[in-house]
Amino acid sequence: MNIILLGPPGAGKGTQARRLVEQRGMIQLSTGDMLREARTSGTEMGKKVAEIMDRGELVTDEIVIGLIEEKLRGESASGFIFDGFPRTLGQADALGALLDKLGQSLDAVIEMQVDDEALVRRITGRFTCGNCGEVYHDETKPTKVEGVCDVCGSTELKRRADDNEESLRTRLLEYYKKTSPLLGYYYAKGKLDRVDGLAEIEDVAAAIKDALDKV
Ligand code: AMP
Repeated sequence: MNIILLGPPGAGKGTQARRLVEQRGMIQLSTGDMLREARTSGTEMGKKVAEIMDRGELVTDEIVIGLIEEKLRGESASGFIFDGFPRTLGQADALGALLDKLGQSLDAVIEMQVDDEALVRRITGRFTCGNCGEVYHDETKPTKVEGVCDVCGSTELKRRADDNEESLRTRLLEYYKKTSPLLGYYYAKGKLDRVDGLAEIEDVAAAIKDALDKV
């Protein structure tokens, strides 16, 4: 089963994707994670990508489609979770064509609905463990011991360079201008399901499970 988690930055796509990986053995394909890796490469391309990401703008369709194509051809899995991809209609068309070529289908698109003020609060307090990827929040989910990951004990806790209010506003604008048209696109294809992204993590996971069980 191949699915897309769709929603603005901070909607909880990464958190829910990680649960699906653990519970269903699916593979998470996060273009944001791939690009964060690319930016540390020190190449000219990596530097350009870093500047665009820090401003909160989208990198070109060509770059992200190339990254996804490489992963899809290289891995076989019991299913892919597309997290943060596609983000434009061009990317959505390219994904459809790529899956067709590989004899695969897109089974569901889950929109994680959240309100904008909640997003700003969520994102500006967010930090993650650099070792295991666990996601924390200053107010709603602090670590039990300050500076130490609850899950793996690492002290490598970090904040994303683009998780500040100014860059978040740009990311939201990009979402509404370029990504939100995908909701209509996938609705028209009969693929769209919606869940309340502001519910408790467990309840969001249960709602996603219900949606996937219907597929
Ligand atoms: P994310 O981790 O999904 O929030 O992505 C972080 C940043 O990476 C975004 O603000 C964009 O600059 C870039 N990015 C991630 N995925 C895409 C995509 N599918 N298309 C264009 N830019 C992307």
